[in-house]
Amino acid sequence: MSDLAAATKTDFPLLSRDVYGKPIVYLDSAATSQKPRAVLDAMDAYYRTVNANVHRGAYHIADIATQAMEEARAKVQRFIGAALPREVIFCRNATEAVNLVAHSWGRSNLAAGDAVLLTHMEHHANIVPWHMLAAERGIELRWLPLDDGGRLDLRHLDRLLDGVRLVAFSAMSNVLGTIPPIRRIVDAAHERGALVLLDGAQYVPHVPTDVTDLGCDFLAFSGHKMCGPTGIGVLWGREELLEAMPPFLGGGEMILNVTTEGFLPNELPWKFEAGTPAIAEVVGLGAAVDYLNGIGMEAVRRHDTSLTAYALRTLTERHGELLTIHGPPEPAARGGVLSFEYGDVHAHDISQVLDTHAVCVRAGHHCAKPLMRCLGVVATARASVYIYNDESDIDHLAEALDRVGDLFGPQ
Ligand code: PMP
Repeated sequence: MSDLAAATKTDFPLLSRDVYGKPIVYLDSAATSQKPRAVLDAMDAYYRTVNANVHRGAYHIADIATQAMEEARAKVQRFIGAALPREVIFCRNATEAVNLVAHSWGRSNLAAGDAVLLTHMEHHANIVPWHMLAAERGIELRWLPLDDGGRLDLRHLDRLLDGVRLVAFSAMSNVLGTIPPIRRIVDAAHERGALVLLDGAQYVPHVPTDVTDLGCDFLAFSGHKMCGPTGIGVLWGREELLEAMPPFLGGGEMILNVTTEGFLPNELPWKFEAGTPAIAEVVGLGAAVDYLNGIGMEAVRRHDTSLTAYALRTLTERHGELLTIHGPPEPAARGGVLSFEYGDVHAHDISQVLDTHAVCVRAGHHCAKPLMRCLGVVATARASVYIYNDESDIDHLAEALDRVGDLFGPQ
């Protein structure tokens, strides 16, 4: 058993449950991660002993709630190597973070004739907001293609960057696991005067992240894939960009003054945080950051890479020609997301059979329909690993896939 999984598995109460009388094998962390006791306890303690609205209460527990929220912001800031807490905007999830950039930066900076460069491996969260803006503003969307190995084909980058104002791409694909050469793309974009939005939904939970090293201008990610709760996500942006952007949603918290004539927006980060925030979720995210820091993100990445190498080797040796695993074959170029096909068995049938063996994998288009079209499939089954998975989980998956073969016969 991997040392890391041995040390962490018992921290996750859900992982001790059974499914159909068998111990659960959770291989769907790319959809959402399980939550350690430290996160559950922090949220429980918040509600039991602190619960009050933030930023406007002049009493003791309201001050504690405000402090807890702003401490969590500072934890997130340090976790991603950001210069200032005010650059960390809390929102609902990565999807809302991308929408915030499209709505606020996009509407005030893009006009007909401008182009936004996306890639063929984007999640719908980083496609649809740009389609919406294109329909409204007449901007052009361009697409960086993939090569046969599931890597971004950078031979086209220079040509595609002409006239581009923003490059928005995933730092780790939720289907292929591909980690593109981020810095190279960022530098090329900046040379041409374009900004860069990184979709870090899969990357931030799994790879040490430093926005200064990455060089990006915006970074979007969700708490629930990194041991935190659902309902909380982050947009990080460079201070001067956020300062110049208009608010996204309007309401309480995001104003300095309101009159019958108009309003004065609040300072960063609250300018972008209209309404009562998800305070307990912010506290939970802070606890998740502490938890991951306790392990060390370098150790998380080492663990993912070695388990991915084991999975690629074991599954390929055991299932040979029957199994097609999409994405780069080198574990160092990818995260622990394994999308696969098994003969001509439909992905939903695969996942249903695996489910009867308590193996949880996802099946479908994974909110990446343009990518499915590039791969020439309608759906894949997807297994994805995190800190609490070990070789035995992969062995269970490999064995359960034998049962898929038994049930659906020779292909
Ligand atoms: N981008 C990527 C690469 C993702 O994997 C996901 C979640 N599947 C998202 C964006 C959207 O995340 P959320 O649903 O938490 O907003």
